[in-house]
Amino acid sequence: MAKRGGMYPGMDIPEFYNLAEELFTPEEAAVYMAIPPGHSPPGPIAGNMGRKEEDVAKILEEMADKGLCTAGRMGDTTFYGAPPFVPGIFEFQFMRGTSTEKDIRIAKLIRSYKDAADKTRKKIKITFPVNRVIPVNTKIKADNKIHTYHQVKTYIEKYDPLAVSTCFCRHEAKLIDPGDDCGKPNEVCMQFGMGAQFVIDRKMGRKIDKEEALHILEITEEAGLVHAAMNRQEIDFLCNCCSCHCMILKSALSQPKPGLALNSGFMPEWDAELCTACGTCIERCPADALTSGVEDRPELNTDRCIGCAVCATGCPSEAIGLIERPGIPVPPVDQKALKEAIKSSRE
Ligand code: SF4
Ligand code: SF4
Repeated sequence: MAKRGGMYPGMDIPEFYNLAEELFTPEEAAVYMAIPPGHSPPGPIAGNMGRKEEDVAKILEEMADKGLCTAGRMGDTTFYGAPPFVPGIFEFQFMRGTSTEKDIRIAKLIRSYKDAADKTRKKIKITFPVNRVIPVNTKIKADNKIHTYHQVKTYIEKYDPLAVSTCFCRHEAKLIDPGDDCGKPNEVCMQFGMGAQFVIDRKMGRKIDKEEALHILEITEEAGLVHAAMNRQEIDFLCNCCSCHCMILKSALSQPKPGLALNSGFMPEWDAELCTACGTCIERCPADALTSGVEDRPELNTDRCIGCAVCATGCPSEAIGLIERPGIPVPPVDQKALKEAIKSSRE
């Protein structure tokens, strides 16, 4: 799993083996290791193991149901993939929102693995944003250039099917400590197209229509949650994140300049005549990018601002709009382009 990449790759520490033993049988671990990069039908995976295709296909199906691999159908063939631990296996464990004893055990093992990994390794320096924020599009000022990838609504209109599942970060926290609940809506993690079909097929989420998807957007914006996705123009999931539990947000906000690690490409602009200095935007900002300045008016720290527009949606006086922020790279088109951008930023 060390070779699968992601935010928490496999590490040679006891906490990782404890977790892997709870998640995988030895046979499933061997199948996971035999899955080539990308997506593959069962035949080549069985070939890599010197085993019969039908036996390996059966194991792969069970693994997909357990969220240990991905599966997607093209025609009559199912293709399987071996995702990293994060994003991937970790999220799949909690998207159903169930609270069995096994779920609680897995949550505790994951927490202790992440804590141990965080202590062991050097702090990750983000050289190119892996994730991005998608702003609330109604708050972007009319004279700014808005691309389709800036608007969640365009993904809702474009993709079929759509699915929703439980927020894995908030659910993981509650499994470990039922009192650890920030009160934000939970069934708000959205998937699009192939990603949605996978969670529907494996009962990790439920199919929703476009109307319900738009309603989810409304409730998440009202609750001050941040829309976050992979930093690419084509997305297959959208998280609605709180800064208290979300791994993506917490990791970005711990950077010296979170506004460069995670951003929408926009920033807020105030209409001084409309602002009544009520302080709501300062309270709502998940990135601590706002402070009270002259005459109690909000003051922006652009190093911290991630361009989420949570300040704007909460302003009772409609005094905030979003404008384009220069210097934020355009999201790469797809996963391959994102990987290349990350690689070249490290060279
Ligand atoms: S929420 Fe609106 S009115 Fe209140 S301080 Fe912020 S910008 Fe001004
Ligand atoms: S000031 Fe805060 S709430 Fe407003 S866009 Fe920036 S990070 Fe989001």
